[in-house]
Amino acid sequence: MSKVYNFSAGPSMLPEAVMKDVQKEFLDFNGIGAGVIEISHRSKDYLAIAEKAAADLRDLMNIPDNYKVLFMHGGGRGVFANLPMNLGTAEGSADYIVTGAWSGYAAEEAVKYTHVNSMRGDFVNADGKVELKLKDLPLKKDAAYVHMCMNETIHGIEIFDAPETGDVPLVADISSCILSRRMDVSRYGMLYGGAQKNIGPSGITIVIVREDLIGHAQSITPAIWDYKVTADHDSMLNTPNTFAWYFAGKVFAWLKSIGGVEAMEAMNKEKSELLYGFIDSSDFYSNNVAVSARSRMNIPFFLKDSSLDQQFIAEAKANNLISLKGHRVLGGMRASLYNAMPLEGVKALVSFMEKFEKAHK
Ligand SMILES: *Cc1c(COP(=O)(O)O)cnc(C)c1O
Repeated sequence: MSKVYNFSAGPSMLPEAVMKDVQKEFLDFNGIGAGVIEISHRSKDYLAIAEKAAADLRDLMNIPDNYKVLFMHGGGRGVFANLPMNLGTAEGSADYIVTGAWSGYAAEEAVKYTHVNSMRGDFVNADGKVELKLKDLPLKKDAAYVHMCMNETIHGIEIFDAPETGDVPLVADISSCILSRRMDVSRYGMLYGGAQKNIGPSGITIVIVREDLIGHAQSITPAIWDYKVTADHDSMLNTPNTFAWYFAGKVFAWLKSIGGVEAMEAMNKEKSELLYGFIDSSDFYSNNVAVSARSRMNIPFFLKDSSLDQQFIAEAKANNLISLKGHRVLGGMRASLYNAMPLEGVKALVSFMEKFEKAHK
């Protein structure tokens, strides 16, 4: 099999070393004669895996001691519901900054459980590029929290400079940028994300929440979605997705072994700058996000002549570059350059794009 580079937005490419390691011990973990997915989540062997994963994540993200790290059910969308259940109240309100599709979905879901004060955090500038404006937002002093999406996976917009929210806790969806760069956890009341972009298989959700914010969930909150109950049971009130948690632990260990988040951040900068640089140098391809707001993880781009889209996708695939079709909301193309995408993959993409451009100019 020749090397295929997978640009899928999620579930997405995972580190080859981890894939192989997991395959190797799939039938027989640690010489116990059973696979990890066949043993009890309360067994000594499994608890060691679970605890190490949590400790490595704390280490990688430099998570302060007064934050809980929860491994939950329900994905990013689950948090769209359980966030207002846990941190909000039915009578009170929460602020939602909308900068693209995902932050919009979060606001829509929250309406069921609290009053949502929704505001745009982006605009189209005079050059037709999407830019962020996160200063002087109409935030409410009595909001339970302010929600934002750090990386808009569909629109390719990333917030590098989080807004000031004073005493109101800032909550960020980091589903598609977790562990891609350094983040100051202490600036946030809560950070969360589904695992299937930078961490591992789908089916497990990371919630990193400041201790003082939990413990007063709305009475309608299902027990498995109550952050305090989850914390008190070390994320094992019921059976977690044991495989996804185990796999995530492998990815955390892999990331530590290659230099941690700081090293990854440098690689992600290099990869994304290579692709953006090429797109900007060409008048055959374009990206419509202002430089300051461009995502390092998800890069939507458009061919000047959209009638070539199908051919571009087919030829890319023939060149071992898969999953480049853009999200249906935007059309065009999207290249997701998550942590597991090597620089060689981006070089191969740029070289293909160059050839395609020459052939169709
Ligand atoms: C993928 C994604 C989600 C949704 O995640 P699920 O786990 O599928 O619910 C939410 N927010 C962002 C930013 C995402 O990229």
